Amino acid sequence: MTGYMIAGVALLLALAVVAYDRWHTARTIRQLDEMLTAAMNGSFSEQNFDESRLSALESRLARYLTASALSERNVREQKDQISTLISDISHQTKTPVANLQLYAQLLSEQPLTPQGKDCAAAISAQAEKLQTLIEALVKTSRLETGILALHPQPSEITRVVERAAAQYAPKAAERDIALTRGAHSGSAVFDPKWTEEAVCNLLDNAVKYTPAGGAVTVEVRNFELFSAIRVSDTGPGISEVEQAKIFGRFYRAPGAYQADGVGIGLYLTRQIAEKQGGYVKVESTPGKGSAFSLYIPRET
Ligand code: ADP
Repeated sequence: MTGYMIAGVALLLALAVVAYDRWHTARTIRQLDEMLTAAMNGSFSEQNFDESRLSALESRLARYLTASALSERNVREQKDQISTLISDISHQTKTPVANLQLYAQLLSEQPLTPQGKDCAAAISAQAEKLQTLIEALVKTSRLETGILALHPQPSEITRVVERAAAQYAPKAAERDIALTRGAHSGSAVFDPKWTEEAVCNLLDNAVKYTPAGGAVTVEVRNFELFSAIRVSDTGPGISEVEQAKIFGRFYRAPGAYQADGVGIGLYLTRQIAEKQGGYVKVESTPGKGSAFSLYIPRET
């Protein structure tokens, strides 16, 4: 009889241990789950969790999440500071740059020697370049920090191509360049406003670097996963060494300095492509021309 009693007590004890173990495991998993949910919502803080009630594993996770929440907050604050600084620079330089342009204009209206006229024109051109540079800096910094976000949505490519080509038709005609549109129908998932800006950058370069009498073509090629908006020209072409560098911020190839520009167009175009899951490809043969293709995904 006593033997049965001992066996019974032992069984009860064993059941109690198993039940406690299960309860403890379930509680730990629940606690870890709560911590991860709080971290994902951005509301995790060590104060929300009673350290004395946490197991070693939970405590380590809590410390890790606290550290990562802190570093994320630091990065966010730094980004905000940089972006505020750039906005301040842009705001504070607006009036002096506008004044520079105004005084250069007033100066050019005075009786000047030919050299004086050249200097007034140079001041005006440099002030304009400074303004373009500041605007480009503000735009890229806002894109990089995510203040300006892209909103890709299923859209027709045709409209984007037509609007961009229409903007560059007068400049092409002025420079005696035949701007033509090839097949350009298709639909993909992209942000129409920013994509138009990217296509405009490619057209701007093609029209700017192609000598008079040349040709620029914009067309759309549809593939299984991507659609490509391709801008090709009969311009000077780009060597392989330069092709690796031209997407860099403020990079301008040595031969490009006689044309207007600040070296930000291709950098911005690549940013726009990547922020909506696409990419930019360049094909070029020096002396024959270049083709830049902006790839955008056809599905999300
Ligand atoms: P920017 O045109 O203001 O210099 P981009 O970033 O648009 O700046 O282009 C970077 C460089 O790439 C240019 O300076 C030029 O050397 C080269 N490039 C871009 N597009 C073309 C083109 N279509 N033909 C020849 N060179 C080009």
